[in-house]
Amino acid sequence: MIPMNAFIREPEELIQAQIEAVTRVIRSGWWILGKEVQTFEREWANRTGCSNAVGVGNGMDALEIGLRSLGIGPGDEVITTAMTAFATALAILRAGATPVVADIEPETAILSVDSVARCIGPKTKAVIVVHLYGRSAPLDEFQRLCSSQNLHLIEDCAQAHGARFAGKPVGCFGAFAGWSFYPTKNLGTIGDGGALTTSDSDLAEKARQLRNYGQSIRYHHPLKGLNSRLDEIHAGILLARLPSLDSWIEKRRQIAEAYHQGIKNPHVRLLPLPKDPASHVHHLFAITSPARDRLAAHLQENGIETLIHYPIPIQEQKPMMNLPHDPAGLPAAKKHAAECLSLPCNPFLTDTEIATAISSLNQFKG
Ligand SMILES: *Cc1c(COP(=O)(O)O)cnc(C)c1O
Repeated sequence: MIPMNAFIREPEELIQAQIEAVTRVIRSGWWILGKEVQTFEREWANRTGCSNAVGVGNGMDALEIGLRSLGIGPGDEVITTAMTAFATALAILRAGATPVVADIEPETAILSVDSVARCIGPKTKAVIVVHLYGRSAPLDEFQRLCSSQNLHLIEDCAQAHGARFAGKPVGCFGAFAGWSFYPTKNLGTIGDGGALTTSDSDLAEKARQLRNYGQSIRYHHPLKGLNSRLDEIHAGILLARLPSLDSWIEKRRQIAEAYHQGIKNPHVRLLPLPKDPASHVHHLFAITSPARDRLAAHLQENGIETLIHYPIPIQEQKPMMNLPHDPAGLPAAKKHAAECLSLPCNPFLTDTEIATAISSLNQFKG
């Protein structure tokens, strides 16, 4: 099978570096909120060009903690995209606020600025943009809209480690950004992990308290917090994996380019490559096809694994029904959910596998 993810193929040196990191943590005798987390937070803040990174339990908690640090909660509305991981919208609900669902651009599947503008009302406090599939959203346009309407701009960077917009790393364009280090992400650990980045030190301090039961100094709890800390073991693993991130992104980019050059089939539509290659880190390589389900079956028969990101738009998930949404409807997200299919695009695919995937795609008769 040509796999969506191939952790099993990772090089021996990387495995050894991770074992050393785990050994270091075990032998340190300090397993929660210690040196590894501090070092990783510093490194991740540097990578994103932000002054603060706060390690938390996972990507969803990063968004919830960030929203709560901004004082967003019951009675407030937060606009986000219909085409994202369920966690984006669930984090808004968990913070006590109401998600308002906006539509996507049909070409790129990225949150539409015009649709967001139509969703703004008196209760709107923030917009969460998602750099879906690893493609940076038009952050300049979102910054303009949010500042003119006095809204917080929030980035969901769970799929965009290493992506840039206008030359600057994503993750520091708004009030804060949420990151996930779930194993399949461009930078992942061997379990759950997350972080938020922000240039606002007060917000970072509040997030540090919220992740640790709302504790300010030991046993003093001014806030009703969560238990959501990045473990020392995961911070150690992330430090071992971080030096590989750029080369992994480069490999993903090469695969994306090979798909773009090789796939020629009227039944398969590719999402356009961006003008600036640095703005896309190809976390997922999604195509669309009106015959999506038959195409997935054809690829499966030819030994090619695929997944669908995402088959059901946010507003059609049971806990999200009856949410406010774009008054013009969400037709682009509905269509994308029915037609999208993600192809294998991980740093450990061989040239032969990529060529096999391309020729199977080209053989599909619709
Ligand atoms: C993975 C993901 C999340 C959630 O991250 P977890 O670490 O699994 O909680 C949130 N948003 C997007 C866009 C994601 O892809």
